[in-house]
Amino acid sequence: MHVAIIGGGQLARMLALAGWPMGIKFSFLVEQDESIQCVEGLGTIVRLDSSHTPQQIFEDLGQPDLVTVERESVDVVLLKGLGEFCPAYPNERAVWLSQNRIREKEFLRSLSIPTADFFGFHGGDSIESQISMPVVIKSTEFGYDGKHQWLIKTEDDLKAFQALGLEGEFIAESWVPFDKEVSMIAARSVNGEVCCYPLTENVHKQGILSTSIAPAEGLTDALENKAEGYAQKILEEMDYVGVLAVECFQVGDQLLVNELAPRVHNSGHWTQNGSLNSQFENHLRALCGFPLGDTSVSGYTGMVNILGGNKLPSSEELIASHANVHWYNKTPKMGRKLGHVNLNYADLGELKQAMQAVLATVDD
Ligand code: AMP
Repeated sequence: MHVAIIGGGQLARMLALAGWPMGIKFSFLVEQDESIQCVEGLGTIVRLDSSHTPQQIFEDLGQPDLVTVERESVDVVLLKGLGEFCPAYPNERAVWLSQNRIREKEFLRSLSIPTADFFGFHGGDSIESQISMPVVIKSTEFGYDGKHQWLIKTEDDLKAFQALGLEGEFIAESWVPFDKEVSMIAARSVNGEVCCYPLTENVHKQGILSTSIAPAEGLTDALENKAEGYAQKILEEMDYVGVLAVECFQVGDQLLVNELAPRVHNSGHWTQNGSLNSQFENHLRALCGFPLGDTSVSGYTGMVNILGGNKLPSSEELIASHANVHWYNKTPKMGRKLGHVNLNYADLGELKQAMQAVLATVDD
């Protein structure tokens, strides 16, 4: 089996590292200026040449059996084009829906899945009469990890945003006073089989995921079932194949879906050491039509992201603290995701202490 991945970042790397032992070979389709450090040595790497036809790209990749993606910002026309030569998962509609925050939220609404209140507008529109503060304004496309977002709490914040004179399409979302941020990592196979991991609790710093713990502390079966129900509905309606992450705000017994990620997700990295089968393995199983792997967990697993900063822990330090270390083979740079560690403990209190110790070795 040969799987081609569009993208050559850490998610492509971890998919390949999970797939090699399963006997799957990989190739990677990367942008002209994209770093290939993460996937070096893991398969054929092809640079995307916009003058090439999908057929040429398919040949350059070595005629893969399947194509998948490691990010949502892929050219859906290319995905469709490659899909004429071999199955491409997830399908282009699922990727297209997730590429625009308004489209995504309208889709969720059409399934009666709750989201924050929102409205769309264009830069330059006067929105004073529609806005009920606090809101967060986000660009509808190409925003991730809290980028291209403005929190508007006062008239002055709104004036400052308008003074930027930005063009393009935006969404204004009510600011949700959430209790927790949680995500549901779920997979659907080409045969229609669905599996879900336990809800994961996520903490973001400056919009970037910092830590995850699964199963999330103190969440009821009712919330877990709700999240699974939403994920199942989304997967089925999209005729989705692969892993999908559903990011939610938990407010009391409600879940408001914030974002969908049509791919393996940072908040599912804990599954590498906390579940019998990781999200990466289940993504590949789903595409290849293998039975999905058991998502049972033992104890609590925490994930700490390691971002480039003034302080960087050494592998020795991390390994000595009984962490499972996953480096991405990237050149360190301020704020860049360089790796993560997973820690597994039977006791949640002990896990939290161990995570604090790791956090103390990286920048705040
Ligand atoms: P996003 O890019 O939509 O995932 O947003 C990045 C982070 O900003 C989220 O993980 C939340 O911590 C925060 N955030 C985004 N939208 C909202 C909202 N409507 N209400 C409260 N917090 C939000």
